[in-house]
Amino acid sequence: MIPTIELTGINIPLFTAFAFVIGACVGSFLNVCIYRIPLDVSVVTPGSHCSTCGTPIPWYHNLPIVSWFVLRGRAACCGVRIDRRYWMIELLTALAFAAIFWKYHTHGLGVVLAYALMTAGLIIASAIDMDHFIIPDRFTLGGAVAGMVCSTLVPALHGQSTAFAGFTESLRGAFVGGFVLWAVAMIGSKVFRKEAMGMGDVKFIAGMGAFLGWTSIVWIIPISAFIGSIFGIGMIFSKGGTWGTRMPYGPFLAIAAFFWLFGGSYATDSYFAHLKKSLETAPLTQDAYKP
Ligand SMILES: [Zn+2]
Repeated sequence: MIPTIELTGINIPLFTAFAFVIGACVGSFLNVCIYRIPLDVSVVTPGSHCSTCGTPIPWYHNLPIVSWFVLRGRAACCGVRIDRRYWMIELLTALAFAAIFWKYHTHGLGVVLAYALMTAGLIIASAIDMDHFIIPDRFTLGGAVAGMVCSTLVPALHGQSTAFAGFTESLRGAFVGGFVLWAVAMIGSKVFRKEAMGMGDVKFIAGMGAFLGWTSIVWIIPISAFIGSIFGIGMIFSKGGTWGTRMPYGPFLAIAAFFWLFGGSYATDSYFAHLKKSLETAPLTQDAYKP
């Protein structure tokens, strides 16, 4: 048995605010990862410095979210414009961590940390995919390994109580996610005669399955396709886009996976319960319609 670290008797609004602040700081580190990992540069050394003139950035100009607004979007050293994506990723991470804590604190500290870790991975992978149209293996295959380790340590992620059961559910999730999407990718490339979905996406969803279990795949695939379609139509009606404009698919998968934590699992469970009920009553209905 693995002990669950309960989060009881604490001030929930205060700790949610605390989770927001931690999320903002983690988001700041995620920005470093997003920028440096594809360039194969250490994420630890050197410390933060201006990418234009090389001046080290003092801590008071490097505060998550706020510094960008204090400096009005320009570097203090040389005045170069700082991409607003930096504070947006910090705010996104902060909001995500606060939301995860708020919703899952009753499930124990392990569940909160595991979902926070997964979300950090989703954000880095999505941003790198948007920049480079690739998701490095360390976030996809690495994510699958991280999901299995977390599920073994925190079986409650899959509603299980033993390490072995948690690991088994995680493995099943990774397999279903990886295999189903691989099949979709194969069929897609045959039908459209071009790569409909990269193998990076397949590995990415295997990682999601490892954290969230196999039923999440039933949610992630259609919902990501739906969000992607809405976005694609939006692109066509705005400037520049046409049918076939290249779009990374990773971010849509990531959004769908995140919303699994906030309603997706409930919707899927309800759907399966409804399906089971209608299959049980189906023979009776057929009899009723016999001529
Ligand atoms: Zn500079």
